[in-house]
Amino acid sequence: MNYYLSLGANLGDKKFQLRQAIELISSLDGVDLISVSNFYETAAWGLKNQPNFINAAIHIKTNIEPLNFLKKLQTIENKLGRVRKEHWGARTIDIDILMIDDLKINDERLKIPHPYMFERDFVLIPLNEIFEFEPKLHGDEVIKTNGTLRDFNLKLIACVDKNFGIGLNGELLFHIDEDLKFFKRLTLNNTIIMGRKTFESIGNPLKNRRNIILSRTLQKIDGVEIVHNLEELFKKLSTYEKNFIIGGGEIYRQLLPYVSEIFLTCVNEKKSADTFFKIFFERFICDSSEKFKNFEFKHYRRK
Ligand code: ADP
Ligand code: MG
Repeated sequence: MNYYLSLGANLGDKKFQLRQAIELISSLDGVDLISVSNFYETAAWGLKNQPNFINAAIHIKTNIEPLNFLKKLQTIENKLGRVRKEHWGARTIDIDILMIDDLKINDERLKIPHPYMFERDFVLIPLNEIFEFEPKLHGDEVIKTNGTLRDFNLKLIACVDKNFGIGLNGELLFHIDEDLKFFKRLTLNNTIIMGRKTFESIGNPLKNRRNIILSRTLQKIDGVEIVHNLEELFKKLSTYEKNFIIGGGEIYRQLLPYVSEIFLTCVNEKKSADTFFKIFFERFICDSSEKFKNFEFKHYRRK
């Protein structure tokens, strides 16, 4: 069974406790750790007057039965010094089960899916990350956020074929006039965010737009702003501006958990591709679309 867990700590050495909890969970007999999200620092939910949390989500595989597994998690919480004083109060570690495959459980001791998960960004964002991404083990850096995690006004714009392919050998799959015009109309006088490879394939900053490149290695290029990680990116963004993520695949995947709107050009063709943009459609609804001969503009909004 696939288990998705949420972990949070807001007392003591939070990062260390999260790592320890992950270590203890993954060393349980019959448990395989599949992926770990980034660590997120978030303001406390519920009771406000308490230290910030660090949250993360993990994906594990195990055949241990749900109630039995919950007990094991509670033993780990206790081992790491969790003291249950007040509901939603400060804690050294909280481990919740968010989902177990498609199971629905409504037991006094265990409710699956976790009843509050869809209301809480600090749960959804790390969860989206491990749901949408290839298996990856994160957890080295903590991403600091202020306010709501979704406040970045991030929009994503992409052009896909029938298989959600977006590129081949560093090049786009399509160059459709109407699509390029649409892209220009949307992004003009706004911010565009891209990865290094996308920037290199364009060759120069796009005019009349604020160009931001997210790259670990690039240092300085005239006419563009370079950020090296998500925290630096979020510091630069303002909610009042429109920020468009324009590719490529790696950047789409990394930023998708923060995206509130998607502008997707869906071309009615199948091409060979080596880069894909797969969205987690349960999280988005298509609220408008416009059909053309061989493609369709679709607009998605996060549910
Ligand atoms: P919370 O996580 O809501 O801040 P606690 O960690 O103290 O609060 O959990 C309270 C109770 O919630 C536990 O005793 C546990 O039996 C129950 N519970 C119900 N559903 C779940 C779930 N999906 N994951 C973890 N605990 C759950
Ligand atoms: Mg709990």
